[in-house]
Amino acid sequence: MRVKGGVPREVKNTQREAQAKSSDNGGAQEDSADGNALQNIQEYSTDETDEMEEALMESSSLRDAVSADGVFVHLEALQAVSDANGDSRASGTSAYDASVDYVVRTLQEAGYDPEVQLVSFMLHTVLGPSELAVEGGTIFLEDELVETGFTVVGNSGSGSSTAVGQSVEGGCDQSYFSDFVAGNIALVNDGPCERTDAVFNAQDAGASGVIFYELPDYVTLEPEGVDVPVMHVFIADVGELSGETFSMIANKTIVPVTEANVIVDAGNIGGEQIVMAGAHLDSVPGSPGINDDGTGCSALLEIAIQMANLGVTTKQTVRLAWFAAEEVAVIGSADYLTGLPDEEVARIAAYLNFDMMGSPNYIRAVVAANLNITGEDAIAQIFYDYFDSQNLPHVTLTMPSDAASDANPFQAIDIPTGSIFTGHEFPKTEAWAELFGGTVGEHCDPCYHQACDTVDKINKEILEEMSDAASHAILTLANMEDPQATLAS
Ligand SMILES: [Zn+2]
Repeated sequence: MRVKGGVPREVKNTQREAQAKSSDNGGAQEDSADGNALQNIQEYSTDETDEMEEALMESSSLRDAVSADGVFVHLEALQAVSDANGDSRASGTSAYDASVDYVVRTLQEAGYDPEVQLVSFMLHTVLGPSELAVEGGTIFLEDELVETGFTVVGNSGSGSSTAVGQSVEGGCDQSYFSDFVAGNIALVNDGPCERTDAVFNAQDAGASGVIFYELPDYVTLEPEGVDVPVMHVFIADVGELSGETFSMIANKTIVPVTEANVIVDAGNIGGEQIVMAGAHLDSVPGSPGINDDGTGCSALLEIAIQMANLGVTTKQTVRLAWFAAEEVAVIGSADYLTGLPDEEVARIAAYLNFDMMGSPNYIRAVVAANLNITGEDAIAQIFYDYFDSQNLPHVTLTMPSDAASDANPFQAIDIPTGSIFTGHEFPKTEAWAELFGGTVGEHCDPCYHQACDTVDKINKEILEEMSDAASHAILTLANMEDPQATLAS
């Protein structure tokens, strides 16, 4: 599934939020998960109930201190940053840097010593419409799901080529290019290898462009190393047009940028284990990104401030992160983990991701545990228990296989994660409206990834509830004697 139109950049192929199943199936799953959570309450042993009550007590002063008004101060600051810098806080803009400055300054004012970690990557920017045509024949239509529709593949090279198209089966091996004429455009169908490898093989054979066809799904190439324009024709069998002259123009630029993650330790700075919580500080191009994800960033910022104000102590280290370039390709969080020494990685007991906490037509969702990662069920249960304790209904959402978030790099190295969010570009169902109110059929966030994702759209009530849930989950995990052992059991 692609992100809605109107985002004039290629990031639209890779920016995936925790996308919910909006089918009836998904609905059924939610209900049963919800039911389980309720049932579990009745099955708790006295010990478990005592533990839950203790955890609630331990988080109560922080939850009291973290208010929607406090979080809104930061949301308004991020809105001002966007207003003053071209109405967006996307990667590659001065507003991103200004967002970093705001987070750093605010943490410093609260007495922290945040770390600013630089992240370098290639930023692809769409300049305008791209073109693909057969000379004297078909003119293909960009991003239209018709027989002659095409798209520029994510992380394609930029520039143009006019050359003879030559069909190549799969392109998985140099041998498939043995009779390929250097300078031609390779017409490549699907094959049993990564499409990036097929592009690299085509480049090695001297191809001046690559046109994929008959692929089962959208593809995104690896972020570096592709120098030629790469397009994907959705339906038409362009392999049949081998020998015709094609012209392709990928109207984009690719520039190196350096941005920053902000990382800060709170609570017990020298704890044996680390409980991490993060949010992404970038928006998509063309959007101020206040719900997505100014809300997660601002909630964490307010949690940090109030932890300092209250002098909250924890058994383990609380590490908060504001990550760069999530909307580009989950770059900041991946880079953070790559650069972290093994012994530091080994200290991380859990990662909590907070992305979209104040959707106007909200749902109150816990992202389903990934069954392959031990500990995620237990983290999800902390959220269920918390919402149940406050009599707040909740649903569970499963992530589609192509969803991407800052939780992914943690999951990739088996660190258990947990996420809550309030919904984006799927319509509210009747069942959801019964639980949460709001407008049936309207998207949970009608301004998702758009210019209208501004501070005035944020639902204050849900923002406070979700910020409190975040406070509670962070402290509950950080106050465990041995979170790694508890989550593994
Ligand atoms: Zn987001």
